[in-house]
Amino acid sequence: MLAPAIHSDKKTIMTLHSSFLALRSVSLACGLALGAATAVQAAPDARLLAAAEKAQPAVIDNLKEMVLIESGSLNVDGLLKMADVVEGRLKAAGFKTERRKATAGAGADLVIGTVKGTGKRKIMLQGHMDTVYAPGILNSQPYKVDGNRIYGPGIADDKGGLAVMLASLKILADAGWRDYDTLTVLMNPDEEVGSVGSGELIATMADQHDTVLSFEPTAAKSVAKGEPLLLGAAGIAQATMEVKGRAAHAGAAPELGRNALYELSYQMLQTKDLAKEIPGVTLNWTVARATGPINQITEKAQALGDIRITQPGAEKKLNEALQAKIAAGKLIPDTETTVKVEVGRPAFIAGDKGRALAEKAQAIYKEIDRDLVLTPMTGGGTDAGYAGRSDKATVVESFGLAGFGYHARDEYIEIDSIVPRLYLVTRLLTEIGKQ
Ligand SMILES: [Zn+2]
Repeated sequence: MLAPAIHSDKKTIMTLHSSFLALRSVSLACGLALGAATAVQAAPDARLLAAAEKAQPAVIDNLKEMVLIESGSLNVDGLLKMADVVEGRLKAAGFKTERRKATAGAGADLVIGTVKGTGKRKIMLQGHMDTVYAPGILNSQPYKVDGNRIYGPGIADDKGGLAVMLASLKILADAGWRDYDTLTVLMNPDEEVGSVGSGELIATMADQHDTVLSFEPTAAKSVAKGEPLLLGAAGIAQATMEVKGRAAHAGAAPELGRNALYELSYQMLQTKDLAKEIPGVTLNWTVARATGPINQITEKAQALGDIRITQPGAEKKLNEALQAKIAAGKLIPDTETTVKVEVGRPAFIAGDKGRALAEKAQAIYKEIDRDLVLTPMTGGGTDAGYAGRSDKATVVESFGLAGFGYHARDEYIEIDSIVPRLYLVTRLLTEIGKQ
């Protein structure tokens, strides 16, 4: 009866839904059978599943509405229109809303929604309103429905996440669910440019909550099975190495100069493998610059290195190793080398508590006979890194719709991920509320 639903289209889910209802009524009639059934697989919450199915057309309408608003990270007009749309929907779900200007970047608004309940847990949901696309993208990549896919710029990343979040909150509000102390929604306008004007606020607000669900997209069937939730994402940092030498005439008196470019090259080679000795961090020198002109011994040179962090604190160890290495010796006497490491978006590491929550999500997916995969780590950064920076809140990522093509071309979402995602989010929130 519960064979894996490989093609879980709406019809399959409806069928499962009815058969689970049947199972549930039989089970209720016989206490022993219920115990036995739940040990294997719990029945779905019939009300939430029915509400998820009923909400699908509205989710698609909301997706279309948002995709037709171009909202690249620098497009303040579009981002303000997006803010209007999501704010309206939050209000309709009973939230008090507030707008705040991002503290850096293009200067669009964050939208924050809050609602007080009667329970204990403080829960935050986050997603972003900006996309990577330049103005006019809808001319070459219009909104379009094709079978199980809906195409459009930003439809997966992250408008699908916003649509799931908003519809889930509406379903729960309509169902009268109030089993939380506070529900907070945070939507930022600058995720695709490093959350320069919102990252600190995300970190601060996340620290005031027990649990944060982050709504980046999950992977479509063509890329990965099992609509994964994400438990880790690399943090990003930058190394800057600077060398000060001495200028001199390259033809008439080169011996009076101290070539900063030679010294920079030497120090880059000296340090290029340091990160290989430190677990959880990588370093690649990717940019080098030197002052000219061509007929002068180089006075100043600078290199930039891309650093990825997958273990907390690994970048500090790398920094110490870099400092020690450049202090240990130089190629060109009288040159001065400095190096610094600056952390951008922090690494996201869900840890044991995040994994435990994600396993609950897996069990919930099982209720509707779907597999949910947990992905331990990805190289791309996410705002879950800011939310989990202090490790106070439990954070899990990728509650958005299944999709593909983001940051590329022909971005799409899969329609048959809408109902499972709505069911997952609503059911998981009610479970978190019980904790
Ligand atoms: Zn995104």
